[in-house]
Amino acid sequence: MRLSKSFVKTLREAPKDELARNGALLSRAGYIHKEMAGVYDYLPLGLRVIENIKKIIREELNALGCEEVLMSSLQNPEPWEKTGRFSDQEVDIWFKTELSSGGALGLAPTHEEPMVNMLKSYISSYKDLPLYVYQFQTKFRNELRAKSGLMRGREFLMKDLYSFHASEEDLDKFYAEVEKAYARIFEKLGLGNDTYETFASGGIFAKYSHEYQTVLPVGEDTIYYNSDHSVVLNKEVYNDEVLEDLGVKGAEFAETTAAEVGNIFKLKFKYSEPLGLKFSSENNEMKTVYMGCYGIGVSRVMGVIAEKFADDKGLVWPEAVAPFKYYLVGIGENGMHEAEKWYKEHEDLVLFDDRDVRPGEKFADAELLGIPYRVVISDKTLAEESAEVTDRRTGEPRLIKLTEI
Ligand code: ATP
Ligand code: MG
Repeated sequence: MRLSKSFVKTLREAPKDELARNGALLSRAGYIHKEMAGVYDYLPLGLRVIENIKKIIREELNALGCEEVLMSSLQNPEPWEKTGRFSDQEVDIWFKTELSSGGALGLAPTHEEPMVNMLKSYISSYKDLPLYVYQFQTKFRNELRAKSGLMRGREFLMKDLYSFHASEEDLDKFYAEVEKAYARIFEKLGLGNDTYETFASGGIFAKYSHEYQTVLPVGEDTIYYNSDHSVVLNKEVYNDEVLEDLGVKGAEFAETTAAEVGNIFKLKFKYSEPLGLKFSSENNEMKTVYMGCYGIGVSRVMGVIAEKFADDKGLVWPEAVAPFKYYLVGIGENGMHEAEKWYKEHEDLVLFDDRDVRPGEKFADAELLGIPYRVVISDKTLAEESAEVTDRRTGEPRLIKLTEI
C-alpha cells in the first residue's frame, strides 16, 4: 500500500472524548474512526488487522472441522421469546425496534437462539451429529459504559462457534479440543504469554465455564492466580469452596486485572431444550441435542493488543496481526528509486511511505503506526547494497543486504 494514495492520515489529536489509550492511539494512527461512544469504523489498516486476527482463528477452527456461516444481524423475537431472553436482560441490553407492519425485531446481541432455531431445519438424526458451526459477526449491545475503546463496543465483532452433539462425552471431547485450539490462537495472536484460561461460573448446566483472560492494567476484570499459574480463577468463583474443589485450598493466590478475550461454555440443553432441537437416536428415540458455545471478541482482541504492546511512541503490533510487515522509506533520489523497486517486488508486505514529507515525519509515523520493521533505503545504505532495518519493538537498527531482507 502506498501512503500517498490512501485517504488515511495520522492525526495529531485523538477524539476529545476518547479516554482509552487503545482508542486514542488507533484513531491517531488512522486505523479506526470514532462514530460515537463504543462505535467505530475500521479504516484500511484497521481492517487488515481485523482480517489477520480472523485468519488466525479461522485456520484453527477449520482444522477442527468447523463450518463457517454468516447469520443475520436483524433478529426475529420468536426464538428468543421461547428462552425468555427477548424481554429480560440476561444478555446485555438489546437494541430493538417496533416494525411499522406490526411486531418487533432486535439487533443481534448474540446468536444462540437463531443458531439453534436454524439448525432445527438440518438436524434430525444422530447421523447429522456432531456438527460445529461458527461465524464472525457484528453484535450490538447497549453497554452501560462504552469507554474502553475497542475493548467495549456497543457494536463489536465476535467470533461465535456453536457445537452440537449426540452425547455428553462427545461434547466433553470437543470442548477439550477447543481449549487446545484457543491456546494456539492466543499464542499466534502474540498474547500467549499473558493469556490464561480461567475458571468462571458455569451457570446451572455445568460446574464451571472457562474464560480467556489477558493480563492488562486497564482490564475490567479481576483474576486470581497461584504461583505457577496452573490455576487461575475469575473473581466470582474465587472462594474457599471452589479452591477446595480444585484441590488448591491453602495455596497462595495473587490478584491482577485482566481483559476477557474469549470464553467457552458447556451449554448442554440450555437452549436446545426450550427451542426443541432434537434428534432420533440409533434406537429411534427422540433425544435433545447437547450444545457448547465458544466466543472470541475479535475487535476486543485488537484493542487489547494495541493497549498491551504500545509504548510512548505509539502502537507495536506482533507480526502475525500487523497490517504490513515493513514500513518503507526512501531517502534522496537514489533511495527513492531503489525503494520503488523494492516495493514492487514485495507489495503485499510493505506499507510504502512515498509521501512528499520530511524523513523525520515519516519516522515518527512509522513508530506511531507500529509496523514491525522500518526499512530505510538511502545513499548511505546503498553503498553497502543494503537497507537499514529497524525493529519497532527494540528500536535496534541493522544493515541488511537488500536481497536478504
Ligand atoms: P463482558 O463480561 O466483557 O461484558 P460477556 O460475558 O458479555 O463479556 P460474551 O457475551 O460471552 O461476553 O461474548 C463473547 C466475547 O465477546 C467476550 O469474551 C469478549 O471477548 C467479547 N465481548 C463481549 N462484549 C463485548 C463488547 N461490548 N465489546 C467488545 N467485545 C465484547
Ligand atoms: Mg457483557
